[in-house]
Amino acid sequence: MSTKVKTQSQDDVFKKLVAHCKEYGFIYPSSEVYDGLSAVYDYGPYGVLLKNNLKAYWWKSMVQLHENIVGLDCAIFMHPKTWKASGHVDAFNDPLVDNKDSKKRYRADAMIEDHLKKIEDKIKKEVEKAAKRFGASFDEAQFRATNPRVVEYQNQHDTIDKRLGEAMRTSNMVELKAIIEDLEIADETGSRNWTDVRQFNLMFHTQLGNIAGEEGKLYLRPETAQGIFVNFLNVQKSTRQKIPFGIAQIGKAFRNEIVARQFIFRMREFEQMEMQFFIRPGTQQEWFAKWKQARMNWHLALGAPQEKLRFKDHDHLAHYADAAVDIQYEFPFGFKELEGIHSRTDFDLGAHAKLSGKKLSYFDPELNESYTPFVVETSVGCDRMFLATLSRAFVEETVPDAQGEDSTRIVLKINPAIAPIKCAVLPLLKNKEELTKAALDIFNHLKFSVDCQYDDKDAIGRRYRRQDAIGTPFCITVDFETLENQTVTIRDRDTLKQERIHIKDIERIVLEKTDMRLLFAKI
Ligand code: ATP
Repeated sequence: MSTKVKTQSQDDVFKKLVAHCKEYGFIYPSSEVYDGLSAVYDYGPYGVLLKNNLKAYWWKSMVQLHENIVGLDCAIFMHPKTWKASGHVDAFNDPLVDNKDSKKRYRADAMIEDHLKKIEDKIKKEVEKAAKRFGASFDEAQFRATNPRVVEYQNQHDTIDKRLGEAMRTSNMVELKAIIEDLEIADETGSRNWTDVRQFNLMFHTQLGNIAGEEGKLYLRPETAQGIFVNFLNVQKSTRQKIPFGIAQIGKAFRNEIVARQFIFRMREFEQMEMQFFIRPGTQQEWFAKWKQARMNWHLALGAPQEKLRFKDHDHLAHYADAAVDIQYEFPFGFKELEGIHSRTDFDLGAHAKLSGKKLSYFDPELNESYTPFVVETSVGCDRMFLATLSRAFVEETVPDAQGEDSTRIVLKINPAIAPIKCAVLPLLKNKEELTKAALDIFNHLKFSVDCQYDDKDAIGRRYRRQDAIGTPFCITVDFETLENQTVTIRDRDTLKQERIHIKDIERIVLEKTDMRLLFAKI
């Protein structure tokens, strides 16, 4: 059976995906009965299963598959000095600006970037127009270099981009305000009445009950990495790991994002999957290159097409890094950061050693010397992985051989190894006790090894559609033939093909086809 994908704008698809996530129990807005809490979301019954499977894929590929990487689960609260040493108290800021009329708050750099994007769109339009006009003989590079309008736009763009880059690098808030004024940027109400730009620290904080004032000020961690750094020696000693070795952690992080939008892409409470790899000083380039490729392979093995992934070098390096690259994914709203890979030098261990007065060095028996290890970090957002996975999986199809409401379907083509429900067991009819009993027997056996679901509500076609909508790769249907010869049909979510198999083979076949080892084999 062939299927045809409907064409529609990326915006429409994204809106449908967000609605689908709610309707089918993947993601709900937080505290929705009170109209939600901006940029905070809850994972529903299928969402939590999918998220746990993504985490398992990451964890196993890091910890289980590497004898020199071990796991850790640190507390969210850490000693406040941690964040002083890491630089987050002084340097984890975004430039904030308020509009005095509308009282709305914006990120100054993001507003200027939006302006740059508008210029880029104008250039793109000119290029597209010319490509149409000149047809096959069109030389895009030459057109960009010589068309007066495009050259003018490009010059404007580059001048603003340079000013922005310089202002951000030198934390020059006065210059940021000047750029906003020079470009006559207005907010969505049309007002250009801006306050000065000022630094806004992204860390949430709270207060210890028994200590008043600054001393008792606690932060909600803005990244999980620091828990790994301060535990470096504990882990090294208790596991007797030798350098090079890594420590992996999955956990919540919190950032008081000024501009929080695009669903779960930018949240105030989110989860990170981070691995810090401790190495000999001087070997960072080699390990940076290795982890860069290994992480790209991990994304590809899950089924992301190469053209939806790309590396993007950082233009400006953070204070702790000597090399940094992002893996960007093409979300429905464009290419954006999915994962960061950073060569963090000995900055973090060095800073914690200095502020705590404790030695955080490693004695290398092969070199017979002590040193502060260098670190290469891989850091991927669990929620962004979730969004990338779902936006790729979400497909609206017409099914040519079907009729009526069955002729279209929404299906989540999630890789079977991470699908929330691997298999549904469905009696063909719900009022036939022989069928429901046989189906329940299969389900009650299967549930010990497979995430499966029993469903006897509605007509069978509807039940298939419901399973398609939550991404279940296999449906087992119990029919009258089952009662005669102990066979069932197994329906493939993507091809819609049904095959007859023996009941005793169901568990083996489903486990084989949904085995995470299929992913590991490709990494
Ligand atoms: P961005 O530039 O998009 O704000 P970042 O460079 O600050 O991201 P890192 O500090 O490198 O992000 O964090 C590592 C990963 O954590 C990111 O690649 C991303 O997947 C995830 N992440 C960071 N901030 C958020 C957020 N507010 N919501 C969801 N995920 C996030």
